[in-house]
Amino acid sequence: MASKKNTPLSELLRLPLGPVNVSSLDASATPGYPGKGKQDAPAQTAALGTQLSDLQETLYASARSTQEKAPRVLVVLQGMDTSGKGGLIRHAIGLVDPQGVDLTSFKAPTPEERKHNYLWRIRKALPRPGQIGIFDRSHYEDVLVVRVENLVPEDVWSKRYDEINRFEAELVADGYKLIKCMLNISFAEQKERLAARLANPTKYWKYNPGDVDVRAKWPAYMEAYSAALSKCNTEAAPWYVIPSDRKWYRNWAVAELLRETLAGMGLAYPPADFNVAAEQKRVAAS
Ligand code: AMP
Ligand code: MG
Repeated sequence: MASKKNTPLSELLRLPLGPVNVSSLDASATPGYPGKGKQDAPAQTAALGTQLSDLQETLYASARSTQEKAPRVLVVLQGMDTSGKGGLIRHAIGLVDPQGVDLTSFKAPTPEERKHNYLWRIRKALPRPGQIGIFDRSHYEDVLVVRVENLVPEDVWSKRYDEINRFEAELVADGYKLIKCMLNISFAEQKERLAARLANPTKYWKYNPGDVDVRAKWPAYMEAYSAALSKCNTEAAPWYVIPSDRKWYRNWAVAELLRETLAGMGLAYPPADFNVAAEQKRVAAS
């Protein structure tokens, strides 16, 4: 389809508004991929690195001159175990200067975190002005694992979708650009990845016996994902579903989404806040 060739990836992967069933989305598709496939994916992804680096630097620089509503990016990563949040951070986010990245991995809440509202630890981890924040899991766990495992009553978690929408709208109004990515893997692919971890002693550390118990509740998780994605898919903070059965596509796709997002922010280097000609003379005379 020729018309799809120039369609931005953000449009191709944007979750359509309305009710959605995540399990019906193809996890092995490769929409918008410009190359041949797995063989040229590392090169395609690396080629984005230069642009990403330049854009990240402009983001950082532009925030230094803006006091209010300083631009910043927040990438939210959600996905079932083995969907590859870690690999993605290494391969795609790793293209960017680590000084420009604020990375936070959210685990089950600590006793301290449990004393506060679920958004407390999220607010504390928000990226600083000019930074690219990465959330490896996020406030969405509070309507995913929390819902499936009944960690709080339904009347509590069911109110959180609206709360999350209000919270995210507030962030956007404050200058944050949100890129919410669901790394979508199939049930069959997860089995392969778990088996691969057990077949290789250097991968045992990645294996968690509890992952199989979570896997047993796959349909309930898909229902929870479907609800979270459709209820929190707003204009201000849209969801992208990344087909993630192919790791090479997943990595390229998130790098490209990040590139498109940064490129669309209209970032510019700030002008000098000193007299350039006068400073040139001083340096020459020094
Ligand atoms: P991993 O990302 O594999 O290191 O696992 C982190 C674990 O923390 C997962 O089992 C998540 O479901 C769990 N987790 C993250 N956030 C929450 C939360 N808000 N409530 C309960 N469990 C959570
Ligand atoms: Mg895990």
